[in-house]
Amino acid sequence: MKLPSKCPICGGELVEKKVEEVVRGGNNTAFLQVDAGVCLKCGERLYEPHTIRLFEETRKKLEQNLEQGMHPVGKTYAISSH
Ligand SMILES: [Zn+2]
Repeated sequence: MKLPSKCPICGGELVEKKVEEVVRGGNNTAFLQVDAGVCLKCGERLYEPHTIRLFEETRKKLEQNLEQGMHPVGKTYAISSH
């Protein structure tokens, strides 16, 4: 990982963690397990450039309904309260 050791927001300590990030595109949603630097103080997440690219590529694929390489894990529902 090439991430700073300190949080650029608050100066807190960053630790490397596997996190789940939700990416939405169109009506589709993907959950990505990625490495991130997580600030122990404020919870800010920092990603490596290739991880950010993965988010962008995933968002585009979701918008275009290109689900190759993605495994369905359940259904997504929209609920609104009145
Ligand atoms: Zn922080």
